[in-house]
Amino acid sequence: MDFKLSEREELLRKSMREFAEKEIPPRMEAMEETGEFPVELLKKMGDVGILGVITPQEYGGTGMGNLARIIILEEMGRVCPAIPMALQVHHMATYALTKFGNEEQKKKYLPPLAKGETMGVMAVTDPSGGSDVAGIKTSAKLEGDVYILNGRKCFITNSHFSDFWVVVARTGEGGRGLSAFIVEKNFPGAKPGRKENKVGLRGANTGELVFQNCPVPKANLLGHEGEGMNIAIQDIVEAGRPGMASVALGILNAVLEQAVKFANERSLYGKPINTLQAIQWHIADIYADLEISRLLVYRVGWMRDNNIRCDTESALAKQFACEAAARSARKAIEIHGSYGVMKEYPVQRLLRDALVTIPAGGTGEIAKLVMARHALNMFK
Ligand SMILES: Cc1cc2nc3c(=O)[nH]c(=O)nc-3n(C[C@H](O)[C@H](O)[C@H](O)COP(=O)(O)OP(=O)(O)OC[C@H]3O[C@@H](n4cnc5c(N)ncnc54)[C@H](O)[C@@H]3O)c2cc1C
Repeated sequence: MDFKLSEREELLRKSMREFAEKEIPPRMEAMEETGEFPVELLKKMGDVGILGVITPQEYGGTGMGNLARIIILEEMGRVCPAIPMALQVHHMATYALTKFGNEEQKKKYLPPLAKGETMGVMAVTDPSGGSDVAGIKTSAKLEGDVYILNGRKCFITNSHFSDFWVVVARTGEGGRGLSAFIVEKNFPGAKPGRKENKVGLRGANTGELVFQNCPVPKANLLGHEGEGMNIAIQDIVEAGRPGMASVALGILNAVLEQAVKFANERSLYGKPINTLQAIQWHIADIYADLEISRLLVYRVGWMRDNNIRCDTESALAKQFACEAAARSARKAIEIHGSYGVMKEYPVQRLLRDALVTIPAGGTGEIAKLVMARHALNMFK
């Protein structure tokens, strides 16, 4: 077992840290205020190859792989977690298109995503309930050679900054009656709906997609009819949960850094508070959460790159890292005393960001169901 990153991965981390530290901070205040993703950054991300990190080279990507993707998301998240939130869903769309698209679809839709001409969208959640994928109500009825889409998707990342969306809709009964489509924004009857106003990850756009008698050509069916549930679940397991876990990992890096800096600088009773054992315990807890999360998340990247199934490991990494980010951010706020709840100090934003990672990409309870199912079968 080799825990050492390769030279290429270390170089990637270094260059991503430089990119994030240079490009993101000047845009953060506006992101926090407006709740908008800085779209002008997209082209720059395309130029450095991170939009197509899991897209094969023949479709304009860099094909660096899943562990590389995790490192990129972690480094971006260390500076501003909203950026990898948007980026990780972008990757979910590229994953779905790469894995389930036909040659024509891949040639048409993957290169603009890799270049940063538009953002990727993976729209699964209906207002009827994100956890209940089999209960999706958005419908797609075949009429001649088009499917007519009706319904609404909610909480969709990048909803207002994308030219085409991967959408899961109902073509038949039950879980086997779902199919996935590539819907272009300019198809009649397709439009983004309301924009959400989130407490955290504010710079990642979240909103609705609305379909009113929207005709989608048969050629835009992704995979086969009835394969929608499989596409949604595989995407969540192999790209969505590892992606959200990486966002949380980025947050944990920032939380430890902020906590340590403050503990070193703040003096009480004539000495820095880093000498107080209670503060040291908080720091140790945050450090442990960061290191454990990194091991869990990197393991999933390694498993994916080695084509090993990772349903349980992916659920564990997501659930653990997102909860760890929230509890560690709270501890960092406590270390800061009242400064911790002042807007000038980033720890309050990190807690808000961490809270938003918990339902995004599937809730902790659903991840625990996956883990419990696995554990309960272990000793049969
Ligand atoms: C910032 C953000 C970005 C998002 N981006 C996207 C996106 O790009 N694409 C997309 O499709 N979706 C996206 N989502 C939606 C997200 O995936 C859903 O919100 C999530 O799956 C939960 O669905 P829900 O909010 O409808 O909660 P519900 O499914 O209504 O769940 C409510 C509560 O019931 C619990 N619960 C449900 N079922 C069970 C069960 N069987 N056992 C125990 N407890 C259960 C849940 O854990 C939760 O606590 C995003 C969400 C957020 C916050």
